[in-house]
Amino acid sequence: MDAYAQIRESAGQNKLSHAWLLLGEDSKELDAVSGFLAKTLLCDSRAGRPCGVCAQCRKMEKGIHPDLISVERLPDKREITVDQVRALRQEAFVLPNDSSAKVFVIREADTMNQSAQNALLKVLEEPPLYASFLLLGRNPGSFLETIRSRCQELRLQGQVVAEPPSEQAGKLAEAFVNGDRLGFVSVSMRLEKLEKEKFDRLLVDLYQAAAQRAKAAVGEKQEAALALCSLTEQLREMRKVYVSPGHCLGWLGTYVGNTERM
Ligand SMILES: [Zn+2]
Repeated sequence: MDAYAQIRESAGQNKLSHAWLLLGEDSKELDAVSGFLAKTLLCDSRAGRPCGVCAQCRKMEKGIHPDLISVERLPDKREITVDQVRALRQEAFVLPNDSSAKVFVIREADTMNQSAQNALLKVLEEPPLYASFLLLGRNPGSFLETIRSRCQELRLQGQVVAEPPSEQAGKLAEAFVNGDRLGFVSVSMRLEKLEKEKFDRLLVDLYQAAAQRAKAAVGEKQEAALALCSLTEQLREMRKVYVSPGHCLGWLGTYVGNTERM
């Protein structure tokens, strides 16, 4: 299971930890996965977090979420200082601005020296309920055992950097249910080149996303969501005799805002 799937699974079971240690060699991957995790923690949706469409997810995508606080090593320093950690601790006790959560991302957290780590430990032990802490680093041996034991560990192995299919399925379903053709086409275009396995996985996620919306919506939107469930099932049948992702999405696209012709 990759890191994205693990995060989704924890979110689905409502078991997201308030402290995470993300370990990996590639800083781009660390940023991508920590961004996904932060989005999951901040997302307003009750199911299928991160949904990719709520106000919190949108702000995360634009990189303007006020409750995401990033801590980095200062350019002229070799380590993250104890003063930076103390400032973080104070900030942690200020209520979130905009959402019900507040997420702190500490990049190169393995450069915290012992006193910085001990300062952090205090807030990890008794965090405010809304706060989460994501510690990013390469070297697990640099962290105090007391820190590690508080954190859920995720080891990244240079897998996926792109947005996972489940999130794109959410966007596709949203566009479909809203009868938003342009939106549907722009998401579809990014999915046409998906490999076989990933596209099949996307269809499973799309079905779930449609089913969730069918439960939550009313009227026309509910009908559209139900139609999407049934169309997705038909697509999964069609995939048994290989029909390309482009054709599948094109076919589905003809029903956007037009489900009465089914
Ligand atoms: Zn969301």
